[in-house]
Amino acid sequence: KVNRGDFIKALDEVKPAFGVSEEELTNCIRGGIIQYSPQVNWMLDEGQQLVKLVRESAPLVSVCLHGPPGSGKTALAAQIAIDSGFPFIKLVSNKDTLEMSELQKISYLNRIFMDAHKSTTSVVVIDDIEEFCEWTPVGPRFSNPILKTLAALLRKSPPPGRSLLIIATATDRGVLQQLDFWRHFNNNIHVANVRTYQELEVIMKDSKVFGQGDIGRATAEIKSTTGNNEVGVGIKHVLQALEIAKLNNDRVESFAATLSRSIAERGDSYH
Ligand code: ATP
Ligand code: MG
Repeated sequence: KVNRGDFIKALDEVKPAFGVSEEELTNCIRGGIIQYSPQVNWMLDEGQQLVKLVRESAPLVSVCLHGPPGSGKTALAAQIAIDSGFPFIKLVSNKDTLEMSELQKISYLNRIFMDAHKSTTSVVVIDDIEEFCEWTPVGPRFSNPILKTLAALLRKSPPPGRSLLIIATATDRGVLQQLDFWRHFNNNIHVANVRTYQELEVIMKDSKVFGQGDIGRATAEIKSTTGNNEVGVGIKHVLQALEIAKLNNDRVESFAATLSRSIAERGDSYH
């Protein structure tokens, strides 16, 4: 005999198809969110403004977080999504679609947006949108059907009474402009590298990897090695350098060496 309890339980069991995949999101913020510059809070606030807009009036809002590799785009997108508290949050990531054909990816996207449209308020995060369109600078090549699907989904209003925030991340806004895709976003937020040595020191302090005095020693060494007055490296790379330093006896030496290399590589890519 099926009773009400079974029915409620069955409803619970369907839940994973909708709802929030909390773990997936928190995985993106494993390094936390460090307030290393006023910009960080500003970006999160900007995100919450858009969340508020969706909650209160706008049926469809989109924003592209764009910035250099490792600048923290995915983490910020995930944080904005979590902070929304919306009942439906979905992260669309390349990692989940590696094995899919073009057609499968398209139906996967359509399904996610269909689910999102069923919830009163939803957030869909499309991580690394260029990569999702299978963009490669060689050729250059990309999947036009996926691009067209994404464009349509970015413009498709949810049914009456429902609202949706779409957050995309992208590394190269120029690519999206070239693909004539950029115009589909109503908003964009530029995510910047760690710029000054002062910002770098905030991150170093936060990590607790260094003892008193070592922070100054490390930054002095980086400055003299690179001859550069700006850091210009993404926070992801800074955190990685800190992790490597932790494994070394001479943490100052290790950190300075890794970071100097990152700064030099950045310099190379400009030429
Ligand atoms: P990629 O270009 O490789 O996609 P990304 O720009 O998406 O990189 P993330 O993958 O988000 O960068 O990596 C940023 C890492 O730094 C995360 O582990 C995050 O927890 C951590 N982090 C710490 N503070 C911040 C911050 N203020 N903003 C963003 N990320 C931060
Ligand atoms: Mg990312």
